Amino acid sequence: MSGHKLLLSELKLWTSGRSRWRGRLHAGFSGRGKFFSSYSPKVCIVGSGPAGFYTAQHLIKTRQDVQVDIYERLPVPFGLVRFGVAPDHPEVKNVINTFTQTAKNSRCSFYGNVNVGKDVSVSELQQSYHAVVLSYGAEGNRSIGVPGENLAGVYSAKDFVGWYNGLPSCRELSPDLSCETAVILGQGNVALDVARILLSPVDILQKTDITQPALEALAESLVRRVLIVGRRGPMQVACTVKEVREMVNLPRTKPEMMAADFEGVKEAIKDLPRSRKRLTELMLKTALEMPGEVEQGRRSQASRIWGFRFFRSPVEVLADPDHNRVAGIRLAVNKLEGSGDGARAVLTGEVEDVTCGLVISSIGYKSLPIDPLVPFDSRKAIVPNSIGRVEQATGLYCSGWLKTGPTGVIATTMNNSFDTARTLMEDMDSGALDVSAAKPGSQSISALLEKKGVKAVTFSDWEKIDNVEMSRGEASGKPREKLLTVEEMLQVARK
Ligand code: FAD
Ligand code: NAP
Repeated sequence: MSGHKLLLSELKLWTSGRSRWRGRLHAGFSGRGKFFSSYSPKVCIVGSGPAGFYTAQHLIKTRQDVQVDIYERLPVPFGLVRFGVAPDHPEVKNVINTFTQTAKNSRCSFYGNVNVGKDVSVSELQQSYHAVVLSYGAEGNRSIGVPGENLAGVYSAKDFVGWYNGLPSCRELSPDLSCETAVILGQGNVALDVARILLSPVDILQKTDITQPALEALAESLVRRVLIVGRRGPMQVACTVKEVREMVNLPRTKPEMMAADFEGVKEAIKDLPRSRKRLTELMLKTALEMPGEVEQGRRSQASRIWGFRFFRSPVEVLADPDHNRVAGIRLAVNKLEGSGDGARAVLTGEVEDVTCGLVISSIGYKSLPIDPLVPFDSRKAIVPNSIGRVEQATGLYCSGWLKTGPTGVIATTMNNSFDTARTLMEDMDSGALDVSAAKPGSQSISALLEKKGVKAVTFSDWEKIDNVEMSRGEASGKPREKLLTVEEMLQVARK
């Protein structure tokens, strides 16, 4: 049976009210007098972080016929905007307003509490939708791979951030903050977020949406010195100027840098690209220049210290005499080979030990495979793709960190997600993606989930959670007090 005949017979079923599949039918005569008809293309998206929402937004905005369903593992949407972005950066979370508009579009539905790969497979989604976009982010982390990394007192930044931001799986982390010095490995913006949260005065944090248990632990914290360690030099740091400036201006703290790390930097600065130049100038000024009177006064009142350590790679996390928990870290001293962003850290053979009671490894997140049938490049930890088209898998697309690897701010993720949406629409238009036959979409997936006892959370269910969180927050002068367990979220959603 041709796709055309199928559609006409479905038209009869639909008009007689017996159609099993709720879908919009588009039928009419094209400019050349030919009859055309097609059901609305049904696209499903896995993951409701920025990638999921921006892909959905672009599809819905550009094509008036497309329907999008977003499946999310947690009962709450927005991915790292909720569970990654630092609590003291509320302005970044404004993107949630745009995502909410998308979720409320009549052609978009949200199904939270659905773990794709476990509750439903990707191939089951493919049978029910014309296209599946994987946007499930990077939920693993790169490990430092050195002896001692499993000692008590060593944490990944991913878990530490998840803990202070209320990610249910990190609730039990309860990091031990009873030491004076903490070492953070890695010099990206996540490392700076963690350093800032560790050192921020509690009177600042208590006005944010940081979780209450984290706030209480930080209020009791004995951490007074945070060293942010990088394997390369000041001209290679991965963090950005705004975040370094926040450290420089952090109340009640002062910087502690090593002048030797900045040898030759002043001379090289003029040839740097603009943003790298501004960042390096700020670090150079902080490390080498005598501060003015006001700043001197501020620094003399400081009770906490932060500093970058450059040209150092972790070799071993050192244990206390009982071999129970971290007591220090052995760092290899490096030199650089080459210059600029591409310079490589090379061991000098020298090592140095730093005493510390807390090590937080912040060397990057990592995507994980969720379904054995989906192509996955284990070396790059991404789904192999060409502009979002998953290689050798018709009808399968990817966007966000799963597509590119775990770098890029929300705006970068937005652009790469728009690209994926464009690719998908090009494939619909060219016929590379067959949308001529009707697909059941969420109806068949809902039936399948029901059989497994999985009850999805809708967007209006999420809004109940949102309201409860905001009113709990209001009581304590915070923008929200997050619910910390999936059970509690589901309880509120079901009310
Ligand atoms: P995510 O945001 O991780 O979204 C993935 C979603 O998929 C999640 O909701 C997850 O629960 C869901 N999911 C996972 N597995 C499954 C599954 N099996 N089934 C269904 N759903 C699943 N950028 C900025 O511009 N400003 C900032 O201040 C900023 N701060 C950051 C702080 C941290 C700690 C981190 C790590 C990143 C930060 N970023 C920031 C970067 C920004 O968060 C990312 O660019 C963006 O979140 C990537 O979007 P994504 O949708 O690919 O992944
Ligand atoms: P990142 O920016 O890629 O930084 C990773 C850091 O880890 C780098 O310093 C890197 O050093 C180091 N590293 C990697 N592998 C290492 C190894 N094996 N040994 C030692 N060091 C190693 O990653 P991120 O900090 O996780 O941030 C992820 C993305 O989110 C970034 O794009 C970031 O800008 C964004 N983000 C933005 C904000 C914000 O806008 N405020 C906040 C948080 C995150 P090398 O350079 O030597 O590899």
